[in-house]
This record gives sequence, C-alpha cells and structure tokens, in this order.
Amino acid sequence: MLANFTIVQRILKFKKSDFIILILSFLSFLTANGQNDLPIRIVTTNTILQDIVKNIGGERITSQCLVKAGADAHSFDPSPADLALITSAHLIVINGLHLEDSLKKLITNSGYSGLIVEAASNIPNQLEVTDSYGDNIDPHAWHDLSNGISYVQTITEALIEIDPDGKALYTQLSTLYRDQIRLHHTWAKRLLLPLPKENRYLVTSHQSLQYLANAYGLVIHSIEEINPQHEPDIQSIKELIHFIRKHNIQSIFTESGINRKFTEQVAAEAGIHIGDKLFTDSLAPSGHPADTYLGMFRFNVTRIRRQLHPETF
Ligand SMILES: [Zn+2]
Repeated sequence: MLANFTIVQRILKFKKSDFIILILSFLSFLTANGQNDLPIRIVTTNTILQDIVKNIGGERITSQCLVKAGADAHSFDPSPADLALITSAHLIVINGLHLEDSLKKLITNSGYSGLIVEAASNIPNQLEVTDSYGDNIDPHAWHDLSNGISYVQTITEALIEIDPDGKALYTQLSTLYRDQIRLHHTWAKRLLLPLPKENRYLVTSHQSLQYLANAYGLVIHSIEEINPQHEPDIQSIKELIHFIRKHNIQSIFTESGINRKFTEQVAAEAGIHIGDKLFTDSLAPSGHPADTYLGMFRFNVTRIRRQLHPETF
C-alpha cells in the first residue's frame, strides 16, 4: 500500500515536459529502424550551422533549425515541437564551446540515440575569453573563416559516418564549399589587415566578434559580454565610453537578436550614433544579403570596413 502511494506520488510530481519526452522517446524507438532512409534528416541548433549543412549535404539531406533567424542562441527554450524534431533526426549538429549546454542535456534526455556532432570540436583557433560572469569560452568561432573550414570538415565526416553511401557527394560538395570559404578568408584579410592602426577600433552590442577581430586585425570593445543575458555594470560602461573617446569612434554597431537598450544608452552618453546592424549569432531572414554563412560574413566585413575607413571605401 505504501509502495503504491509512493508511485502515485512520483507520477503526480512528473512534469508535463517529462511526459512529452517519454512519448517522444517511444516514437524515436519505433522509427529507429528507418535511419538510412533518404533524405537524411539533420537538425542544427542555429541558422549558421544549418546553412553549412545544406552546402555539404545537397539534395541528399533535409535540415531543420532549432533557434530561428534573429532569435538569441544564448537563451533558447525549446518547445514540444522542437523536441519532436530532435527525436526524429538522423544527425544533430551543434556548435559546441558551451553554447548549447542546456540544450545538450535536453537532447540526451529526449531519447535521441543518434550522433551529435560539435562543429567547433576541431577548430585551429580557439579563444579563451574570460568575462566577469564566468563565461570563459567564447563560442562565436565561426567568424574566423579558418575555423569555418574546420566546421565544414567536421560536419562532412559526421555525415559520411551516418550515411556512407553519400560519401562521394559529401566529399565533392565539401571541397567546393571549403574553396569558397578560403577565398572569403583571403578577401577579408586583404580588405581589413592593411587599415591604419588608428582605424581598427570598433564597438559592438555584445561580445560576439572577438574571433573576427583576432583573425582580421581589429580591436573590438563590446557593451555586453559573451552572454547577452548579463547586463553590463556601471564600471564597464565607463571604460567603454573612455575607449570610444580615446579612439574617436563615431558609431556603435548593433546586432541582430540583441536588445538595443544598452546600445542606445551608451551611444547617448558618448554622444555618438547607432550604426549598422551586424549579423553575429544567426543569419538574416531569407532574401537578405546576410541569409547565408558566407553572405553574413561578406555583409559584416563590408559594413565594418565602410565604417572604419569610409574615405577609402
Ligand atoms: Zn552570442
């Protein structure tokens, strides 16, 4: 009797999301035998990864993305529909570098038993950035295109692992795509590295472009730190205004998906403009020049160069 009471108590304590996970686990078990059916179903955590996956997988794959264009990847709250996507996937592609820590737990608990690949797991240039909130790994590694080439390689290997019959296609598309990324990498170096030292300073909304700064010779100060959920304190705003005045910075870049409240506050206090919007954590909506990974890179680099040295652009 006592045992039965405990079971009832446990069931009553079950949250709605636990039931959803239980049902999806069962469905995932039922469909597990169809894993080699085409197209290969891939779920990515953000739109940048989704575009990379599309370029490698061609018509052999379909892709879905959990964090939509313009949404904040640092504070993603999945819906039951997202959980259904996860459990029906053949491959899940995440960034890694702690960007999706909470989501990773959810994927594990969902009953998904396929491969999860961390696209950034083999990048050649990893930044250890310590901010005051303990976010000491900067996850925005895709803004350095030498890392982007590594993302492509890692995702290609994962695709071949789950779908060996597609190896020839994946290898061919991956080679073509990496060639395009290399061209963009060289282009950005030619555009940004020759800038005079005094023209290399800029301010952005949140700390998302350190990889870009490192790879292409810029110095970036940000209003918010790695995770935009943390609000900047008075001391860091003071330091930022000092940086803006010292380097004669004329405007602050805003970012898609990031709250403009602090950007407006700093711009008003420093007496400067709010400048162009950059795309840092997700792609722009379809039809915008920044709606692909390389389109986003071209868009950001062009806007930055135009602001830093308008007279030579
Ligand atoms: Zn970010």
